[in-house]
Amino acid sequence: MGSTYRINEIFYSLQGEGFFTGTASVFIRFSGCNLECPFCDTRHEEGTEMSARGIIEAISPWPSPHVVLTGGEPSLFIDRELVEALHGDGRFIAIETNGTNPLPEGIDWITYSPKQFWLPEAEPAITECDELKVVYTGQDLSRYSAIKAAHRFIQPCDTGDGDRNRKLIEESVEFCKRNPQWRLSLQTHKFIDIK
Ligand code: SF4
Repeated sequence: MGSTYRINEIFYSLQGEGFFTGTASVFIRFSGCNLECPFCDTRHEEGTEMSARGIIEAISPWPSPHVVLTGGEPSLFIDRELVEALHGDGRFIAIETNGTNPLPEGIDWITYSPKQFWLPEAEPAITECDELKVVYTGQDLSRYSAIKAAHRFIQPCDTGDGDRNRKLIEESVEFCKRNPQWRLSLQTHKFIDIK
């Protein structure tokens, strides 16, 4: 019998953040995370066990090949069987990970969002990625310079405090102007109130 995967939700929307902003994407959200970041709004503990075949059937109505494995922390759940099933279905597999667990081979796009600044125990298990996406709360960004990444994004944290958010956005804009190898990532799905 094949593996099952604990899924919180599967939905179709546009990617709101980072390199693929605006891209129609199938989101597969796994349940739960090994970390407890202070700003987290996506731990999503509830879930249903699904097989790879069940997942493929669930996403069949949606035409975009772009699949985003997200969470929670998807690396706690995924394996080669799921990667092969998604590739067999013609999908491009992107993952959003906190980088604390090794990933199975074959993922097409790794978006790594390091969390060790807030949680010392969040030691990285990966050192390179396609896209580095740093949630910015005012930390010194030179700490990320050793990470190999084809694309670097700074994403001002949504703190829930309008004044603090504005300050973080201003600092992020100035940082990108001084460091043009970095780009600004905004949570555009929140602006237009889509999932
Ligand atoms: S790694 Fe992501 S999902 Fe996990 S607690 Fe931190 S922000 Fe939330």
